[in-house]
Amino acid sequence: MTRTTPPRPVDIAALFPEIAPLARTATRLHPRPGSPGVHDSSIGGPLLWPSDEPWPVCEQQHDNYGDFVRLDVERQRRRVLSAAWGRIRRDDHRSDFLPEQRAELQRLDKLDEKADPGTPTTMLAVAQLYLKDVPDLVGPPGTDVLQLLWCPRDHDPHCAPEIMLRWRRSADVTDVLAEQPEPEVMEYEYLPNTCVLHPEQVTEYPYADFLPPGLRERLEEWDAAAGHRYFYELSIATGWKVGGYSAWNLTDPYPMVCDCGADMELLMRVDSSEWDGNESWRPVEDSGPESEFHEHPSRSDPVEVVIGRGYSLWIFICPVSFEHPPQTSMQ
Ligand SMILES: [Zn+2]
Ligand SMILES: [Zn+2]
Repeated sequence: MTRTTPPRPVDIAALFPEIAPLARTATRLHPRPGSPGVHDSSIGGPLLWPSDEPWPVCEQQHDNYGDFVRLDVERQRRRVLSAAWGRIRRDDHRSDFLPEQRAELQRLDKLDEKADPGTPTTMLAVAQLYLKDVPDLVGPPGTDVLQLLWCPRDHDPHCAPEIMLRWRRSADVTDVLAEQPEPEVMEYEYLPNTCVLHPEQVTEYPYADFLPPGLRERLEEWDAAAGHRYFYELSIATGWKVGGYSAWNLTDPYPMVCDCGADMELLMRVDSSEWDGNESWRPVEDSGPESEFHEHPSRSDPVEVVIGRGYSLWIFICPVSFEHPPQTSMQ
């Protein structure tokens, strides 16, 4: 099923024609639970990885204090919660988990207490994007797929996963790694549910601080009266996406500069929710009446990754060379 973002409630380029040349496309990925294979674009799915290439391990320092969960335990917990919530009707506020479900959740919590953060910090497969599926994704010449992995532990400076990108030519991978390694433990909610993608191109406009002087003041004046619709509904799409513009609502803008001196460009957004109550961005296909039972995962949160307190991880790359390391911002 395709996913279609509803038309923006206000045509900002009709109100402010000077903004029209700043329009930029982005590709919303629209992840939804599914069973992708190595030849599919996915989030939390299997990567097309050569069997003779070492699987990466995080080289960064880790703090072994804090709350850790085991990935296998977390998967089982989500299965139990999914079954338990599925029994509860939307308007029934009584919690009616079955006794055996409660017992299983307690058993899983106990297992997590024994999670050992000293285990090797193997990287975790997070996303695989074939360029043919994602119109706003441009890779090094000859490559046709991007793979994103991360170490699901907190790292400086944002207390967020450490990311790694791999660009590949899929035809080069003839002998595919059969069993994908993964870390035993992680922090917080850094385990993506396995999702297939329904990419859709949308139009975005710059974060207001980057609008040309004059236009910015006039637009902000209109926006204050309109209830800040520009930020929430008209400029930057919510959810996991590739390309387009980055938001700076947590820290205010700061330069993303590569070690080579170049200003970096947004590659993708990893979001904690697809629309987070901001239903303007909810695809029309997801707008029908919800089941009378609670859905888990919810339609708005299919991936169940949480960055910080529900923020996004914005991944930037260098326009000079794909070899230069990516950087991230948390907003
Ligand atoms: Zn790490
Ligand atoms: Zn660079």
